[in-house]
Amino acid sequence: MSHQHQRSRPAGSGTALNEAYDTALLDLDGVVYAGGEAVAYAVESLAEARAGGMRLAYVTNNALRTPDAVAEHLTRLGVPAGPSDVITSAQAVARLVADRLPPGARVLAIGGEGLRVALRERGLEPVDSADDDPAAVVQGYGGPDMAWGRFAEASYAIRRGLPWFASNTDLTIPSARGIAPGNGAAVEVVRIATGAEPQVAGKPLPPMHRETVLRTGAQRPLVVGDRLDTDIEGAFNGGVDSLLVLTGVTDAAQLLAAPPQHRPTYVDRDLRGLLTGQPEVEPAGDAYRCGGWTAAVRGGRLVLEDAPGDGGDALDGLRALCAAAWTSAGPGGCELETEKAVARLGL
Ligand SMILES: [Mg+2]
Repeated sequence: MSHQHQRSRPAGSGTALNEAYDTALLDLDGVVYAGGEAVAYAVESLAEARAGGMRLAYVTNNALRTPDAVAEHLTRLGVPAGPSDVITSAQAVARLVADRLPPGARVLAIGGEGLRVALRERGLEPVDSADDDPAAVVQGYGGPDMAWGRFAEASYAIRRGLPWFASNTDLTIPSARGIAPGNGAAVEVVRIATGAEPQVAGKPLPPMHRETVLRTGAQRPLVVGDRLDTDIEGAFNGGVDSLLVLTGVTDAAQLLAAPPQHRPTYVDRDLRGLLTGQPEVEPAGDAYRCGGWTAAVRGGRLVLEDAPGDGGDALDGLRALCAAAWTSAGPGGCELETEKAVARLGL
């Protein structure tokens, strides 16, 4: 089921993805919801995928909220979920810390409720001060109310020689009003003050993928995400297949420029892609064909040589372009001019 070896073009699938894989490991922001509201087609597609027997799990780098709070939010949006369906980077980092400390150890917790609950779940005792005799420092996203003094507290403890852990290092976090500094930005603040390096758990790193597989028991998981350097790279590092949806932060031009570890197995517009098979991209001489579209590299440019008549799916054109761009780029990222070809798709 793994297509790691042929990442020079998107894979095809003769069966619907919700039948080909037993568990969807879904990212949340930009996939299921955006700015608190459900993404178009997410609610009905997830309901249908689940009715077909697919297990749905929600995997987020955001360590602020507890799985209970995330599950409540999903259920309110029309995506019924329980806390055991939600896996957070707080849980992944708590396991990482627990693996390295004796049971019951005190941990200086710099973050929100999600982090404290996850630490307690692993038998660790969250404390607030560097003077509370902690054995480690763990840092997760604290939200807009995080006080500056918390970073000072982390710095004191790390400078005393304590090991430092971070739930994730996403530099930014999307909000309803725009882009805000994420936990990665907060980690940078502490790094500047200490010169130390944290051990990180979140996507795309293995501890997060391990946590997800341990908690879901997935045999044939499909990672579903909107971000190349977290979701798709995390799937690549874990050796499992992935579906990129274009409802979040990644656009067609970024997908075409992706280096091998950022190339998804499949690409689709939105979560309706879970319910269908995926078309094959066929080599045709030195070009690539998919759904009536033909893409090639000509004179240092990525071009569409052939387009289907009415009713053609622009996504097939993008799949053909991916094959031409990724093959041309080899182990790097494609640096060809892609603007005109992408514009022609009208995505
Ligand atoms: Mg996302």
